[in-house]
Amino acid sequence: MHVRKGDTVVVIAGKEKGKRGRVLRILSRKGRVVVERINMIKRHTKPTQRNPRGGILEKEGSIQASNLALWCGKCSAGRRCRVEFKEGSKKRRLCVKCGSVIESA
Ligand SMILES: [Zn+2]
Repeated sequence: MHVRKGDTVVVIAGKEKGKRGRVLRILSRKGRVVVERINMIKRHTKPTQRNPRGGILEKEGSIQASNLALWCGKCSAGRRCRVEFKEGSKKRRLCVKCGSVIESA
């Protein structure tokens, strides 16, 4: 999986193409990712103790990870990243285009 929780990503394919958001959850077994405000779905919920009125609830649905690209703030575009290993330090992810470091949250 090329994205991590907390990353800013952009949707590059599908009906939400062009939208940006933060990664909220990774569903690695399914290869899907939940991104803030992307692919909102309506859930018809029954009344529960937490939500005593029930009704229609909007929440984020998951999206295929391959439809996402990491967002590079410097290029202001979705980019692929390469991983750089440096001895004695952590792995860093760099934008393939401009080489700036993409911070992981
Ligand atoms: Zn870049």
